[in-house]
Formats: sequence, structure tokens, C-alpha cells
Amino acid sequence: MITFEEAYEIVIRSARQIGSEQVELNHALRRILAEDVRSDLEMPPFNKSAMDGYACRRKDLDRELAVIETVAAGRIPTKPIRKNQCAKIMTGAMVPDGANWVVMVEHTERSGSNSIRFTGGETSDNICYRGEDIRQGDLVLRRGELIRAQHMAVLASVGCVKPWVACRPRVGIMATGNELVEPVKKPRGAQIRNSNSYQLWAQVAAVEGIPTYYGIAEDTEESLDHTLKKAMAGNDVIIVSGGVSVGEFDLVPGILRKNRFKLLFEALAVKPGKPTVFGVMKDVVCFGLPGNPVSTFNLFELLIKPFLYKMMGHEFRAPVIPMRLKQAVSRKKTNRASWIPVAADKDGWVEPVAYHGSAHVNALCGAVGLIYLPIGAGKIPKGAVVNVRPI
Ligand code: AMP
Ligand code: MG
Repeated sequence: MITFEEAYEIVIRSARQIGSEQVELNHALRRILAEDVRSDLEMPPFNKSAMDGYACRRKDLDRELAVIETVAAGRIPTKPIRKNQCAKIMTGAMVPDGANWVVMVEHTERSGSNSIRFTGGETSDNICYRGEDIRQGDLVLRRGELIRAQHMAVLASVGCVKPWVACRPRVGIMATGNELVEPVKKPRGAQIRNSNSYQLWAQVAAVEGIPTYYGIAEDTEESLDHTLKKAMAGNDVIIVSGGVSVGEFDLVPGILRKNRFKLLFEALAVKPGKPTVFGVMKDVVCFGLPGNPVSTFNLFELLIKPFLYKMMGHEFRAPVIPMRLKQAVSRKKTNRASWIPVAADKDGWVEPVAYHGSAHVNALCGAVGLIYLPIGAGKIPKGAVVNVRPI
């Protein structure tokens, strides 16, 4: 049995880099940037007014100013501003030559048919200067960046309309277990519905992997071998849920070995999730996760998600939010690390969700995140600040 931290290192080290491809900008969301992006222009590209108001010379603020033109956004001013003059200017419009100040319209009054006066108040120049945000040639986004909405704005601003992004890893998902039926069926007798495959599908899709589902394999060597071989043919990563424990019908580790996977670990000192298996075979890796839905969920979040991101060249760092514990958390056995789902109240205090064990999947729906109890930690007192990893 190895620690979670050791397993994480092994998994990340085993991630081979996937290739890259160019996509249209509107398909780049959530993808991983595979190039450094530089700006092809200055931002802003011209001295720009930050306000609706009047562009003038600062030293003329104490007198009446003749309004010589109106500059709308997108128009080039036709006249320079001279002594005792101003131009009416709109937010985003180009500041005319000669002007070094924009007074907000709220700080002015009309003083003649075509003149205004500054009425006082806190004032600043209200000018965004050419190049003050970005200089031409500046590195604006780095390779490895996860593209979110704000990155889309940057890509658009610098004209990167076909960014290079990492290819999407192909992930085969297979369920195992004679007790499983697909959700369209009503389970009978000792059957239960397969929920893991749909959960995993969603988790893979959320990180822009390409999930393919291979159905439910029975707990027999033939069925497992057959399904695994199909999954191996078309994927970079395979996720098997169930069949990895030490029960009589937990045949997955053996089938992986038979298919020449080298198993880099077969047990983790984490709860839930102890019988997790990780194998590599040439360019394919396989995660065998214990079938309990909460274990499956957690292990994807904790190991597979960082792994898939690493393949795409992105160093995933899970955000952690310090929150206060509403009730003490304690446990008797401390030989494994534990990830505990917690719910938050409206004041931002957290407590473990009512949770009957790792099969209790709807407990996760009320959780905002997971807290971590390392090996040896038996208790966290009420009121302690804990790091919550959002899920
Ligand atoms: P196993 O890891 O195969 O020993 O399964 C552990 C528990 O998880 C058992 O109660 C299984 O019925 C359940 N389980 C296994 N696979 C799934 C699945 N795909 N969806 C929901 N529950 C599952
Ligand atoms: Mg099973």
C-alpha cells in the first residue's frame, strides 16, 4: 500500500504529452493552450477616454471651454485641442491631440450655447494610454494555460483566432459487475443501476477528454478481457470501475496483467479508494477504481483529472478555500488518509455531509468540496480552519 502523495507522483510522472491542434476561437473554451501567445498590437491601441465627458487641457480647467467637436467611439478626432477649447467625447473614443485631460460630464455645466465649465470635484485624467495594458509583442498567455472565459477575451483582443491547443485525450470507460444494469432498466433482485459510467463520462467531458463508453463487463475473465481489449484499441486512457478489490470476483488486476499492463500500484492508503490500481502498457494507461460511486468520484478528481491535464500540458493545482468547521471531525482508524465531503452553510461554515459510506452517492450532491485528513490525523476540532477543495 502506498500513500496518496506517492501515487500522485507516479501517476503524474506517467502522463505522456499528447499532440496539439489548431481550433477556431469559439471552440477553445476549456482547452489547454499549446503555444505562447503574444500581442500583435498595443492595448489600448490609442489614447482612449475612460468616461463620457470633455477632453481638454488640464491647465484650462479653471475657465470656460468652447466645445469644438463631438468625438464618438470609433471616430478619429478632426481637430487638435487648443487653449480654452474642448471636445465632447464618449467612453472608448480617441482622445484628440493636444488634450491631456477628460472631465466627466457629471463634473461640468453648460455655460453658453456651445461652451462648458468644470464645476469641480475629484478629477483624474480619465485617459487610458496607448499600450498601458499590453505592448505589441508582449507575452499575454502562456502555453499550458487552461482557457476560460477571460482568456477567450485576451485571445480575441490580440487576434489569436485559431489558437493551438492540446489534443483531447481519448478516454475509454467501462463498468464491471454482474449486479449492474443500465439506468434504463429497473433493477430486480440483487441488481443495481450502473451510475459510475455516467459520472465518469461527465468528469471526463468536464476536462475536455473524449469519453467513449464500453458498457458493463461481467465479472468473468472472458467478458473483462473482451471489453478491455476493445477499449485499449481506441484510447489513451481507460477507466475501469469495480472489480479491483480482493473479492473472489475482482478479476481486473489479473486481466490487466494478462494484457501486459505493468501495474505501478494496487493499493492506496486513502479512504475511500483503497484498492485503486494503476497500470501502463505502451501508450495506454489504465485506472482501475473501486466501484463504490463516491470512491470513483473522488479518485477521478484527485488522480485522473490532474493526469489528463498533465497529458495536455497543464499543471492542475486544485484550488483550496479555507473555511471554518462547524462540528468536530474525528475517526478512530488513522492508518489511511481520508477525503471527506463537506457541505457549507450560508455563513461559510462547513461540516461533513450525512454520509453512510462510499456508496452513498447523493451525499456528494450536497457537498461543496472535500477536506483532507492525512494519515495519523484522528481529529479536527470544531471551529478549526480547514482547506476545502471544491468539487
Ligand atoms: P467492487 O469495486 O466491484 O467491489 O464494487 C463495490 C461496490 O460498488 C459494490 O457495491 C458495487 O455494486 C458498486 N458498484 C460497482 N460498479 C458500480 C457502478 N458502475 N455503478 C454503481 N455502483 C457500482
Ligand atoms: Mg464488482
